[in-house]
Amino acid sequence: MTLQIYIHCSPNWRVLETAAIKAWKDGDGKKLVIVPSAMLRDWWLSRLAEECGGVHGEVVVTLEKLAEQLAQRNAQTLFRLAHPLELRLAAWDALYECNVPEQWRVSGVVDAFLDAVKELELHDLKPEDVAQALAYDRNINLLTELWKYWRKSLNGRNLWTVGDVLRQGIEAAQRLQGELCSEVIAYGFTGLTDLRWKFLQALRGIGVKTMRFFVPTLASNQQAYCYTQNLFNLLKPQGAKICKISDDDLPSELKCIPQLAFCWQRECETKQETDRIVCIAAAGEEQEIEMAIRVLTQWAREGKLKRYSDALLMVRSIDKYLPALEAMSARYGIPYVLLSESGQPAHGLQQLLNAFAEAKRRGFDGELLWQILPSPYLQVNGKPLLPVERHEETLKRIRENIAETDTQYWVEELGFDGIFSQKLGEFFEAVSNLPLEASAGEHARSWRKLLDMFVTPANGDEKEKEALSHLRSVLNSLMAWEKTELQLSEIVKMLIDACRFKATIPQDAIRVVSVTDGRGIWSPAVVILGLNDDEFPQISSRFKLLTDEHRMKLQQIFKLLTPLESRSQLLASERMLFMEAIGSATERLVVTYKRTDSEGKPQAASVFLSAIENALLASGWRWRCEERDLGDVLPRNLDEAIDQRDAEKVAIFSAFSIGQLSPDEEALTAQVLRDESLHFRLQMEWKRWEEPQQGQWDGNLPSLSSHIVKHLQAKRVRVTALEDYGHCPYRFFARHILGLQRPQEITYTVDRRIVGILWHKIMEKFLQQWQLQGNLPDEKTLRDIAEDVVNCELKNYPDMARELVCQQVLAAVEKVYSAERSELQKGWHPIGVEVELQFEASRLGEVPEPLKQVVISLKIDRIDESAKKQLRIADYKTGGAPSYTGIENGIALQLPLYALAVQVSDELACKPVVEALFLKLLEFTQRGVYSTACRLVEQQRGRQLKEMQQIAINWARQFLKSIAAADFTVRPFRLDSSCRGCDFKAMCRQNKLRLTERGQMTSSGENLE
Ligand code: SF4
Repeated sequence: MTLQIYIHCSPNWRVLETAAIKAWKDGDGKKLVIVPSAMLRDWWLSRLAEECGGVHGEVVVTLEKLAEQLAQRNAQTLFRLAHPLELRLAAWDALYECNVPEQWRVSGVVDAFLDAVKELELHDLKPEDVAQALAYDRNINLLTELWKYWRKSLNGRNLWTVGDVLRQGIEAAQRLQGELCSEVIAYGFTGLTDLRWKFLQALRGIGVKTMRFFVPTLASNQQAYCYTQNLFNLLKPQGAKICKISDDDLPSELKCIPQLAFCWQRECETKQETDRIVCIAAAGEEQEIEMAIRVLTQWAREGKLKRYSDALLMVRSIDKYLPALEAMSARYGIPYVLLSESGQPAHGLQQLLNAFAEAKRRGFDGELLWQILPSPYLQVNGKPLLPVERHEETLKRIRENIAETDTQYWVEELGFDGIFSQKLGEFFEAVSNLPLEASAGEHARSWRKLLDMFVTPANGDEKEKEALSHLRSVLNSLMAWEKTELQLSEIVKMLIDACRFKATIPQDAIRVVSVTDGRGIWSPAVVILGLNDDEFPQISSRFKLLTDEHRMKLQQIFKLLTPLESRSQLLASERMLFMEAIGSATERLVVTYKRTDSEGKPQAASVFLSAIENALLASGWRWRCEERDLGDVLPRNLDEAIDQRDAEKVAIFSAFSIGQLSPDEEALTAQVLRDESLHFRLQMEWKRWEEPQQGQWDGNLPSLSSHIVKHLQAKRVRVTALEDYGHCPYRFFARHILGLQRPQEITYTVDRRIVGILWHKIMEKFLQQWQLQGNLPDEKTLRDIAEDVVNCELKNYPDMARELVCQQVLAAVEKVYSAERSELQKGWHPIGVEVELQFEASRLGEVPEPLKQVVISLKIDRIDESAKKQLRIADYKTGGAPSYTGIENGIALQLPLYALAVQVSDELACKPVVEALFLKLLEFTQRGVYSTACRLVEQQRGRQLKEMQQIAINWARQFLKSIAAADFTVRPFRLDSSCRGCDFKAMCRQNKLRLTERGQMTSSGENLE
């Protein structure tokens, strides 16, 4: 009997789910839903309950659970799938039993082993087969030996591995007949392994005729969703039919991300800002979360978010963010709930267990004692071991001899009565009896004794009782592993993992979930935290027992249907996870990353961030950007966070308000205003507003004049620095006199700027090659140079980011080459590349005497010569290029002054400059030649080079004079264009209400109006 297969696809989880629920309802609810994880099963059950009222729990099942249920029905003895803890213990057993070399006895080996065997088992491989196929490999021999022992150890305890369960499930499906429903919905699978697929196929034997796959993918974007390709390759030969789902009600800015992410398209000319998508750049995890909560709160206030529970915070690795989440939740009083398969961590209990282990290792010093003794969990017969009224006195005594570790000393020193001394002694003994290295059973007995005698849930809390009883049940199951040798650190890790309780969801709490656990959950607002390199995409640095070479060989020898997890497969799976997280949002999306860590060290942004930014820009959208630096002091409560107020502002407001001040406000005002530095800052601020652009508060510093002249004489002034002065004298001061620079953000994002820098380098090498060989090199040379430059310049980039940039650069090679050929046909060939020139300021004509010898320097991207020995000066631009009005306004001096430099240089002065222009390196006309800008020529038509040169010279003279007079006033030429992207906004207090633009002033500095 053939299986009818249908594939329904949508990149958005809600759209996919609606279609799946409809399909489920169409069958009168008689279909079975198979999902990949227990978390998704819980979500589905809750959604079915909402949509259809109550449903039976067996309607939704995970794939492995279904296999286990079938296998158990068919088995003679009582087997079950082993729990993660049991898999781990069996692995330790195997490691101690088999004679593994020293290098294998390292931390992380158990995880590496479990990962490797799970991967191989899921591909229907057995240890004997793998050992035979890769017999020459010593590591594989060891791995397969361990694997055999591990399985034997589990099977001996009536436990199945995942491979056993699926194989037994297949066998059961062949024996049990016609027991399952006729239609199955396989929801949320993005890939299958050989054995999982074989199991699904085997369901035919028990009556399944139709299988509907609901896959979160978009066929038109292969780059982003390539991970799902293997699933399609598996299903299509089986005659699978693709069914379309419509998703018209999603906002278009959200819809465009799955369509274009990772396709790296050219930006749209016109863009519209959307506040549905926000990008947050922060310093450290705490600021990331604080900013995200702030955005959500703003949306809630504006009615764009109904309640906090409509927001879902997703993060790749949740542990890193938990402390920050707790701090923020406590500070702002906004509850959060962690959705996790294993439950919420019981932090208090976890800390206590850690402290016990630490005390065993290094003894009870004062610090540890103070950590443990007041713990509310530490109780004897329902009463605290250390009564609350003794806390102060005990702390005082501990402080007096904090380094002491002798427990007898502490019993004598702290024992305020006989009973307490006895209990304290017994407690010390119970902790010291914890073994450092012993069998799992022995460890479990000692820990059990300690917990039974001294640990009780604080205030009889039900959740903690549950966590403690779970901990006890783990200790009980450890007792069955008598022969498994474990170290204290290993046992503590297991116990801490077990300290969890089931999440109870508060009324209105932000939901927090890891990206993997959150697959399939959707929400109106989604926040994806931690979009930094190495965090997401996360490439495991843990050492691996299987290499890509092993995988390739196994793949070939066993002709596997689905790929093993090679490195490229891992990257594709990270990309898939990211696209699935994006697909969780139905209305709004916040993406956050750390520009620096919490101490100011720059952090690299994730390439995923630029993938969505590019998708938005290419679709005509710009996200809203929220930036926060280390210097931004965290506010103390949410009102302050939202309104940007701080104590000073409150105090000043109070001081100037006519209302009656409360005693608190009066005290605060008086205290703040007494502060001398605040007094000075207030005065300065007052002047800024009263006399803007007139005094030293705004950069008018005549007293520095002689120092500045000396500085100019000793250094050179670049033409681009004069342009900076044209844009704003204060910017020139900050950048070129003070030498300030904003720390460069480490980013692996594929933006225009990086591509521009690379193309400058590529053209430099290509034109040098042209000069060297005397004729235009071929296209392959340009391509080879381009590849070389990318690999060399981006050698520190992650492979994936480098490959993406390389693709983008190589995509332009053909057009650039044909534009170069056109330049040659027009009669130009290069005679100089990156030509450094300089001239004395006296060449500009009348300048003040002390400035005459000041050197003006510049670098010309390219000088071409025609057959008539005439010269053309070209400067490359890969973004916007200046216009003629830029020269007229003194903010674009490059071309005319570059021409002057050539005209007065020793080597080139003999040839006339007939043209100067900007060549737009990556923009081409319809005829395939470079687009140009600001073309200055000698002939009659077009802008006259000479005329523009005179204007530029006049500006340069004027600027030099003002620089020598130390006039660095905050005077932007235009408040929007000049200040956009300027690094010094915070210093200059740029403010539209206060400043007059240079463009609005007469030459004497008067306001035009
Ligand atoms: S932000 Fe504007 S006003 Fe401030 S220094 Fe930069 S260009 Fe000048």
